[in-house]
Amino acid sequence: METSWARLKAHELRDLAARDAVVILPVASIEQHGPHLPVMTDTRIGEEMARRAAEKAWPKRPTIWTPVMWAGLSEHHMAFGGTLTLTPATFRAVVVDLIEAITRAGFRHILISNSHGGNIVPCKQILDEISPRIAATVVFATYATEAGAKFGKPLEDQPNIMHACEAETSMMMVCAPDTVDDSDLAAHNVPFGNGPDFLSAGKAAYRWRPLAHATPNGVLGMPEKATPEKGEALLEIGSQALADLITDPETWAPVQDLRGQGTGGVPFGDRR
Ligand SMILES: [Zn+2]
Repeated sequence: METSWARLKAHELRDLAARDAVVILPVASIEQHGPHLPVMTDTRIGEEMARRAAEKAWPKRPTIWTPVMWAGLSEHHMAFGGTLTLTPATFRAVVVDLIEAITRAGFRHILISNSHGGNIVPCKQILDEISPRIAATVVFATYATEAGAKFGKPLEDQPNIMHACEAETSMMMVCAPDTVDDSDLAAHNVPFGNGPDFLSAGKAAYRWRPLAHATPNGVLGMPEKATPEKGEALLEIGSQALADLITDPETWAPVQDLRGQGTGGVPFGDRR
């Protein structure tokens, strides 16, 4: 089984489109991840999640993954250096073009698999915009939130993903151990028990702020608590959640048309 779009030949991809394979389009970032993790952290984790999810889903449904779109929306990290961000308009244009190219290659079910918090709002907005206009179903997921409470089980100090934290450090100890500086992880701890709420104000209001508002070193969480065993468990939990999403027929089920007598007449189209 070869699940990497980039490693397949064109005729093999035509065959997979004819078999109605699912395509995972991973979106990530290149951004600072504290003093101990490389800037590729979200990109490397995103690739690993996509590959494992495709391999888990394959027995039920052929699934492949494209190269990770490594340039994401990371303006809030820029002040720490090492960060390469797009502007929202560019990000939108690239994601829309890639979705259209995947659709033109014959695929009808696309999962945008995200591994970076800053991409969540714009990706949902892109789906809102393009879904009524394309003959494909596009679903968006972030591995840690798709896994939900399960993702917190191996973790001691946080309920879910934070930043350069117990979880991301653990996963990078598995994905790219030579890039993790574990010489003094305790020195980089930034206790942050309430999750990344630096983008809030009042009771339920939103306010943009840079990450430097919440952390002195670019970390949110306790990298000291990281272990490779936790990392392997988290990679399995996150990728299984994505595989379950991919293989659930409800994920791709046609849109219902519940219009009753007297409310029809406007073309509903063939939206899937
Ligand atoms: Zn990250």
